[in-house]
Amino acid sequence: MTLLKSQFDQVFERIHEAEQASGREGQVKLLAVSKTKPASMISELWQLGQRDFGENYLQEAADKITELKKLDGLVWHFIGPIQSNKTRDIASHFQWVHSVERFKIAKRLNDQRPDDLPPLNICIQANISNEESKSGANLKELPELVVAISQLPKLKLRGLMAIPAPESDPEKQRAPFKKLADTLESLNREHHLDMDTLSMGMTGDLEAAVAEGATMVRIGTALFGARDYSSRK
Ligand SMILES: *Cc1c(COP(=O)(O)O)cnc(C)c1O
Repeated sequence: MTLLKSQFDQVFERIHEAEQASGREGQVKLLAVSKTKPASMISELWQLGQRDFGENYLQEAADKITELKKLDGLVWHFIGPIQSNKTRDIASHFQWVHSVERFKIAKRLNDQRPDDLPPLNICIQANISNEESKSGANLKELPELVVAISQLPKLKLRGLMAIPAPESDPEKQRAPFKKLADTLESLNREHHLDMDTLSMGMTGDLEAAVAEGATMVRIGTALFGARDYSSRK
């Protein structure tokens, strides 16, 4: 058994145990965060049945997407910061974007989504850890943002994403995830939306995220090992 396969099994085991602990069996999808990792590792995970992969850097991702075009059923998720001049390529290469923080970016993704592709799945990145983190839309901006994005025809608004400030105490990890889950629920209720995705939980806090309702956990390190930034072009 390869190291990658055994790490893949361990991540599944962690997810499965966390699901069981909160009575949520089968409700959590693994997003394999493959930034800095070679196409060969993605291909190996694909052979083991993994389909959803997350990338942060457009050029690196575009190279891998092209290289792996022959693999059936791969689903690519963009999860990194988005500059305006990158929206066209993101809109044409990816099926999901988790890191939308502003209407301007959403509008560009909508306008640049190729007509022959289905709507691009969108999560809005929310800032749930107050001033410590600069990324993500503020909670008070969210109602207006979700309503506006939900009306763009070539986007499908799926839910919310967050990266809480690092916290090693598992009990304290839960509070920001609960806040994101409560926010999704109240936005759905108050604006008659049907968002179904909570993209939350990484290597260090996936159990806390699953306990609070994550539907997608984004796992890099536990799956692929430490990131290799020297491999970036
Ligand atoms: C890199 C990254 C991850 C994966 O983090 P790990 O701690 O390595 O599991 C998840 N989400 C986002 C947005 C990332 O940039």
